[in-house]
Amino acid sequence: MRTVDVIRHKRDGGRLSADQIAHFVTGVTNGTLPDYQAAALLMAIVWRGMTGDETAQLTDAMVRSGVRVTFTDLPGIPVDKHSTGGVGDKTSLILAPLVAACGAVVPMMSGRGLGHTGGTLDKLESIPGFRTALSLDELRTAIATVGAALIGQTAEIAPADRRLYALRDVTATVESIPLISASIMSKKIAEGIGGLILDVKTGAGAFMKSEADSRRLAEALVAIGNGSGVKTEALITRMDAPLGRAVGNANEVVESIETLKGRGPEDLETLSVTLAAHMLVLAGVARDLGDATGCVRRAFSSGAGVEAFRRIIEHQGGDPAVIDDYSRLPSAPDEHRILADRSGVIAELHAEHIGLAAVNLGAGRATLDDHIDHGVGIVVVTPPGTPVKAGETVLLVRHRAGRGLDDALPLLERAVRIEDAAPPSRPLILETIGIPSTTR
Ligand code: URA
Repeated sequence: MRTVDVIRHKRDGGRLSADQIAHFVTGVTNGTLPDYQAAALLMAIVWRGMTGDETAQLTDAMVRSGVRVTFTDLPGIPVDKHSTGGVGDKTSLILAPLVAACGAVVPMMSGRGLGHTGGTLDKLESIPGFRTALSLDELRTAIATVGAALIGQTAEIAPADRRLYALRDVTATVESIPLISASIMSKKIAEGIGGLILDVKTGAGAFMKSEADSRRLAEALVAIGNGSGVKTEALITRMDAPLGRAVGNANEVVESIETLKGRGPEDLETLSVTLAAHMLVLAGVARDLGDATGCVRRAFSSGAGVEAFRRIIEHQGGDPAVIDDYSRLPSAPDEHRILADRSGVIAELHAEHIGLAAVNLGAGRATLDDHIDHGVGIVVVTPPGTPVKAGETVLLVRHRAGRGLDDALPLLERAVRIEDAAPPSRPLILETIGIPSTTR
């Protein structure tokens, strides 16, 4: 098969066959397909799209580019959660211990910050000693010992995605629902789970800004998961303002532990309970969402959730004493306050601007080699809907000797909008896309 013919076929709006897709993915994986041809086909897919069948075949070929993990002798179906990315989105740190405390197993494979959004691995690495680079054998041991692990993508998992993602990043071919869907789902299917809840973000701080695009993405992801034998559901959730109050790395770890102790912000707790309940039903350890929610609430109030996090941290080489003593986590020494420039009600805290400001302070990366400062970040003092008086603090910025502050401050000032009255509030969870009845 000639790659140029495959590119031409897609360029002209044709459907690729399973063989053509396999040719492309095999060539990408073993390095025989040059980057310029891979990039040309990616761009043709961005323009021409893919049918549901083509997307499923692309996902399958990407899964088969590496290993599909299997777990044996587990007390239930292994489950995971994937978020499409947001600001202050720390639910993975809460869900893995909470769901494990309720008796399910959670081999959670997470990523690093991307653009203005934070990454679970960067947050966890603010815990002194915490190792996210576990091998698949270490993952199996962690699952058997503590019921959950929070790790990065290993070399064996969907290697085609690794090369394709790097190419997409530099050829303006990230924004394509079939390519995003195959990229996310190939990694999730390969990690050996039987159930997956997706948190598809929508709004100013999400990659998908419109609800219609978020729904299309959610439906594509749910179809691929269920078609591959992974019971998959999606929640579409609002990402207009940061989730919770903390944006950064170490401060998000603190907020996650506080939430596990039952003292977290309401939006973060609500979303965590809902996602955890779906995971427990998908894992087969709870009959229904009511039963699952009861279990999750008990794991908060009994302290079982926070104790599970302590065990996970210890098992992955981190300092478990951070659970009781937050001073063991890095914290930047300097503070700056963003004040209300008028009295009124906080109408908007633009999540993307706040996320970009945090990246400028050093909480994320502008280039691949950037070093993360785990101690810097932003705290939301007055969340949307709160009345404020002129001169009161809206955002608290923790920085290190002014690094990145000149770029961060204009973004933060633009992020805050104060009006005379609060805009009508909308629910945090907008929609649930369930398992199609044909694959139940
Ligand atoms: N996350 C992924 O893993 N892949 C994408 O393409 C986009 C977000």
